[in-house]
Amino acid sequence: MNKNTLEIVLLKGEEILKEAGILEAKLDAWYLLEYYFHITRSEFFLNPRKEINPSMTKEYLSLIQKRADRIPLQYITGEQEFMGLTYKVTPDVLIPRQDTETLVEEVMKVANHKKVLDLCTGSGCIIISLSVLCNLEKALGTDISKEALAIAKENASNHQAEVIFLEGNLLESVTESFDIIVSNPPYIPTTDIDGLMTEVREHEPILALDGREDGLYFYRKIVKEAPNYLNPGGMLFLEIGYNQGEALMNLLGESGYEDIRLIKDLAGHNRVVYGRIQ
Ligand code: GLN
Repeated sequence: MNKNTLEIVLLKGEEILKEAGILEAKLDAWYLLEYYFHITRSEFFLNPRKEINPSMTKEYLSLIQKRADRIPLQYITGEQEFMGLTYKVTPDVLIPRQDTETLVEEVMKVANHKKVLDLCTGSGCIIISLSVLCNLEKALGTDISKEALAIAKENASNHQAEVIFLEGNLLESVTESFDIIVSNPPYIPTTDIDGLMTEVREHEPILALDGREDGLYFYRKIVKEAPNYLNPGGMLFLEIGYNQGEALMNLLGESGYEDIRLIKDLAGHNRVVYGRIQ
């Protein structure tokens, strides 16, 4: 029987991904190799001809096949890094995006000793990162999905973060006031969902993506209801799509928020809208 080596299975993995049209075929084959064999790249290069037994070869290639079938890498490895912390992810939660770090960094500037509420918490990446990186007085996350909350709770406990999670649609289950409300709600217009990458469209939770007709459904509700749950001078921070800046400035303006401004992400797109109540 021919013997497989790390080097050979890596190449095979890359080939399968290339053939399946995966954009980052080489990189993904590497990630899955590092993940499955628990090795770093430098360990690989110390001994690329290390022999791999047939069952391990088969298992590595079955992970490769999942990726070839357009399952996002993060759902295969079960994790994603965000704000320097590792988060567990499953298909029940949106995979944390780098864009969202802009939102967290902006809130971090003012969050010390504040009570912070995160709506549509998903994996919990926003509120848990804030809780780990700042000194919050209180941290609460809500989500309509029970399954998502189970993951968020696991993430909070992995990071020893003191965050409370409540099930409910937006503010429905919230009974007290906060200094800061933050959210990265679903904001993709329904008609744009079809145009998303297969990985996102078929594997990430639609509930976390679909912002209804014009993508603004959840913003309207949050902007309208948040003042009832904000302390005097309370602040609202929302992640937005790159082309939603003007619409959100208007929404906040019409609802009487003050100091309204947009914050750009690293790519220079409008990514966060901020407003404060009196
Ligand atoms: N708050 C989570 C995140 O930013 C989930 C967002 C969502 O489900 N729309 O990743």
